[in-house]
Amino acid sequence: MKIETLHNLFKRSSGVCTDTRKITKDCIFFALKGDNFNGNTFAQEALEKGAMHVVIDDMRYHKNTGETIFCKDVLTQLQKLAAFHRKQLNIPIIGLTGSNGKTTSKELINAVLSTAYNVSATLGNLNNHIGVPLTLLAMTDATEIGIVEMGANHLKEIAQLSEIAQPNYGYITNFGKAHLEGFGSLDGVIRGKTELYAYLQKTAATAFVNANDPKQLEISKPLQRFTFGDNLQDCHVQLLDASTHVQIGYQGEIINSNLVGLYNFHNIAAAIAIGQYFKVATKDLKKAIEGYVPQNNRSQVIKKGEYIILLDAYNANPTSMLAALENLQQTEADKKVLILGDMFELGLAASEEHQNIVDFITENKIGTTYLVGENFSRTQTKTSNIKTFATFEDLKKDLLNTKIASSYILIKGSRGMALERVLDLL
Ligand code: ATP
Ligand code: MG
Repeated sequence: MKIETLHNLFKRSSGVCTDTRKITKDCIFFALKGDNFNGNTFAQEALEKGAMHVVIDDMRYHKNTGETIFCKDVLTQLQKLAAFHRKQLNIPIIGLTGSNGKTTSKELINAVLSTAYNVSATLGNLNNHIGVPLTLLAMTDATEIGIVEMGANHLKEIAQLSEIAQPNYGYITNFGKAHLEGFGSLDGVIRGKTELYAYLQKTAATAFVNANDPKQLEISKPLQRFTFGDNLQDCHVQLLDASTHVQIGYQGEIINSNLVGLYNFHNIAAAIAIGQYFKVATKDLKKAIEGYVPQNNRSQVIKKGEYIILLDAYNANPTSMLAALENLQQTEADKKVLILGDMFELGLAASEEHQNIVDFITENKIGTTYLVGENFSRTQTKTSNIKTFATFEDLKKDLLNTKIASSYILIKGSRGMALERVLDLL
């Protein structure tokens, strides 16, 4: 079927579905395949539950009815439809990538722009080869600005997602040591993320650039850009304080965010810059940022009894871990405790990167430390102030046996470690 024809059907449908548990009446069901399932086997069920059409690529499930659309590859068809739809939309789309802070920046930008526009943004963390098409297909004729988070764990991924989303604006949050397994090295990460810049350059689109990051400033030189930072930029933002919450000065106003951590200054600054670019009034911008409260275990401050807990258990990699440690170092508190879990997807760099974290904690005497996970348990610790545990169960036993005294506690680890479980043990 021609993509134009499929798009006409899409326009008459209630939207796209990929999960029969979430079928909406008159949707188009795309029968995607995963490692453990074949969506084609659910096509019939989708129709019974009210789908208008099903798109399949497995002949065995092909029924010669008007409802079934057969194609060579369902995922490619979904991506093509999304790219076609995006072109028809003819609206500004901001593409976001980077190693850390994509979702936080996306949500802040969304909050700011939503005060003045009808914005459609990536839901949650749907930032991959399926999530990006779904994000685009959720945009309608009423959408005025789109924000698309693009994630990657190997080269060429951002290039492909850019071709689908066709962003006319782009922002790279940062280059960090995340997904080293797929990218090979920090240089690999930089090459991967700058695929977005390559797309922007090719299409004469604009990059928003954090001028406080020398690497970004240098790499983005050939691009048309809008810079922000604390020193004579297109958008001037100033970090006033980060000892508890990040406080920013902008156009004579003081913006008090609910976010902790110096690194969140950059995420907020990006949202302010993009707001300024799209002419959002300063008072609205301030209100939007002050109203934003992070969710899903991303840098949340929780008061529990005698503890102040910084729960950052959403994910971790060497760069975000170091950022969190540096932040804790600068936090004012009588007693600091660290409960850290393994950082995943580091490939051959795993032992070295975990050891670096242990060394940093030791050298800077940050506080009493509990390290949990296979990688951390294999590190060399030179002080009795650092305890290691191979499994969460081992950590649990220790925490239940010896109660931690009143303190400021940082909890951080990769998603798979699910360290939010620690909350119940304190
Ligand atoms: P994912 O790759 O899972 O999509 P993401 O890039 O969307 O992650 P967020 O979900 O916004 O990132 O933040 C995850 C964690 O990364 C935060 O809890 C915080 O620890 C850290 N982080 C956020 N922003 C930054 C930043 N600008 N620099 C370094 N670390 C950051
Ligand atoms: Mg994300």
